[in-house]
Amino acid sequence: MQERLQKYMARCGVASRRKSEELITEGKVKINGVVVKDVVLIDTDKDVIEVNGKIIRPEENKVYIMLNKPTEVITSVKDQFNRKTVLDIVKADERLFPVGRLDYDTSGLLILTNDGEVTYRMTHPSHEIDKVYVAEVLGIPTDEEMELFRRGLKIEDYITSPAEIKIIKFSLDRKKATLEITIHEGRNRQVRKMCEKINHPVLKLKRVKIGQLSLGDLKEGEWRYLSKAEVEYLK
Ligand code: URA
Repeated sequence: MQERLQKYMARCGVASRRKSEELITEGKVKINGVVVKDVVLIDTDKDVIEVNGKIIRPEENKVYIMLNKPTEVITSVKDQFNRKTVLDIVKADERLFPVGRLDYDTSGLLILTNDGEVTYRMTHPSHEIDKVYVAEVLGIPTDEEMELFRRGLKIEDYITSPAEIKIIKFSLDRKKATLEITIHEGRNRQVRKMCEKINHPVLKLKRVKIGQLSLGDLKEGEWRYLSKAEVEYLK
């Protein structure tokens, strides 16, 4: 795209257009390594602009979205089997990526953003963010089973970190219970595997909270932009 140099500089957050013109006439701006002292048109796709020896780039429009993912939707940008993905639901101009993942058969809170820093921080194992799930399981866990769950369970080749579990309700015939489960890790199908391990397989799973971010009354399949305070929290 062709653009006036001073306009491009302003768009990169260097200074106002007028101040940028001054910087140009003061000889502080280079195009492809060559000092320019006149305001000229540049090709923003090819030309490399330096101001005071530093390459400048336009400030990307950072977008942060909360989706209530329905089941039978895949948490990835593309699916090799052509299944519906979260990006078929969330339509934005920016190239968004999901932060972490939810299983195909899990619903609930999923963040999408084009902010790589936030994605990195939120998904890094050292960053132990609480994730809260509501799980409908078969049967009602006993106190002993819940204690095992809390202390850590051996799953495949690892032991889960301490987790929280509480019974919210159960059916009158005692065949099903609804649990609130909080974990800090995010291994593949972890909640399902943990419930399976204490002999209460998951029938339904929904994530309702990640750290301070809550799904609230966002309906399945709906999405919204995060508030300023929520974005601040992520950063
Ligand atoms: N744990 C699971 O088992 N599934 C999810 O989708 C998320 C956490």
